[in-house]
Amino acid sequence: MNRSLYGNLIFELSKPGRKGYSLPRNNFGDYQIPDELRRKEDAALSECDELTVVRHYTNLSNNNFGVDTGFYPLGSCTMKYNPKINEEIAALPAFQDLHPLQPEKTVLGAKALIIMLDKALCALTGLAHFTFKPYAGAHGELTGLMTIDNYHRSRGDLQRKKVIVPDSAHGTNPASAAVCGLEIVEVKSLADGTVDFDDLQRIVAEQGQEIAAMMMTNPNTLGLFEVRIPEIAKLIHDCGGLMYYDGANLNPMLGACRPGDMGFDVMHINLHKTFSTPHGGGGPGSGPVGVREGLQEHFPFVSPYQGNYAVMLRAYTYILSLGRDQIKHVGPLATLNANYIKESLKDVYELPIDTTCCHEFVFDGLKDKSTGVTTMDVAKRLLDYGYHAPTIYFPLLFHESLMIEPPENESKETLDGFIAVMRKIAEEAKTDPELVKSAPHDTPIGRVDDVLAAKHPVTTYKQMLNDNN
Ligand SMILES: *Cc1c(COP(=O)(O)O)cnc(C)c1O
Repeated sequence: MNRSLYGNLIFELSKPGRKGYSLPRNNFGDYQIPDELRRKEDAALSECDELTVVRHYTNLSNNNFGVDTGFYPLGSCTMKYNPKINEEIAALPAFQDLHPLQPEKTVLGAKALIIMLDKALCALTGLAHFTFKPYAGAHGELTGLMTIDNYHRSRGDLQRKKVIVPDSAHGTNPASAAVCGLEIVEVKSLADGTVDFDDLQRIVAEQGQEIAAMMMTNPNTLGLFEVRIPEIAKLIHDCGGLMYYDGANLNPMLGACRPGDMGFDVMHINLHKTFSTPHGGGGPGSGPVGVREGLQEHFPFVSPYQGNYAVMLRAYTYILSLGRDQIKHVGPLATLNANYIKESLKDVYELPIDTTCCHEFVFDGLKDKSTGVTTMDVAKRLLDYGYHAPTIYFPLLFHESLMIEPPENESKETLDGFIAVMRKIAEEAKTDPELVKSAPHDTPIGRVDDVLAAKHPVTTYKQMLNDNN
């Protein structure tokens, strides 16, 4: 780590006795903390004046890349836009001070908001009822699959213990099915990235009586619309199974079509991905599950509480701030933005599946492979130009995957700026490949060893001191 650029750690700036605060006068009298609970010595906290603290953390934050500092073309992640009005609404004391154990009669307004969000999601998805208890997309998948399992059990159809999952699915799909005690049957993808219908017919012919459900993601992990859904839904329904829709990234569908109309029975939506809540670093999330009329009786018990309420608030604020007319543009704009970038770059970057995409698409590295410049190099060089890197080396279908997803709300100028830089890097790869291979040059630290960071994470100050000695 280049310490001179990073500045000191807050502990190194500490001076004994220095303070950046003063406590208010004690109005409550003295309460004696039992001896066995008292510290034997002072906590090892840093002692700094206010300006030192403010500058330290502000400088640290400037070393970080965020959606508020630049364009973020990360794929399989959907929203990289967090409207400030969402935060203002979520911070209103009437919402923020709610307590999960408050008497019900004191929270009727908060409950009414959940009902209104339920109505909005039903209108957008074509399903009949949502439960808001799941805390994330994966939790929603588990809740949805348990609902399906309960439904089959309620009919005494106990042999339905298999779930069909496409090989292109997000890793949480098979994981959720396994946690639910179901067996996974993988269906292959065609060269164009969509589900292989012939392979699916074979599976249903052989194991139809045991199929509980088929899970599908649409657009799929490659950003492609699964055009054969009506046939697939009929095949699965005819054999007695239900259709599950992974709606983690629903934005390219908003205003264009609805999972309920396509024949899906159960779905989850990632409110944090589709409706603009800041996410990343593990949370917070909300993965409400919607079902067709009648299936709501089979919702399992997954939590005594109402889920992540602040995420619901932000989602509802976003839906209302767009309104019925504007929300229809979300899907078409997400699709237009992704296709605009794809078409503007496909002469210099390798496009293995050359078709209209939805909200995202995948390049397989630079077109000119003779330069030796890899997807990793391109991603690192983008940092020098002030852009966050796209998702790289995922999906695993290609060797040099570079997955780009611009959300619907980016301006044409922003997209043009990104396209120009991607073209510039392709040019540099030809004229000065070393420049790209040794990037980044202008960031506080250079190329980190990703493997070492994962295998030997240094997470405490003490550990760093030990390592440096
Ligand atoms: C993100 C994602 C999930 C999982 O959602 P979490 O909230 O991270 O649990 C599931 N499926 C798809 C397609 C996703 O993109």
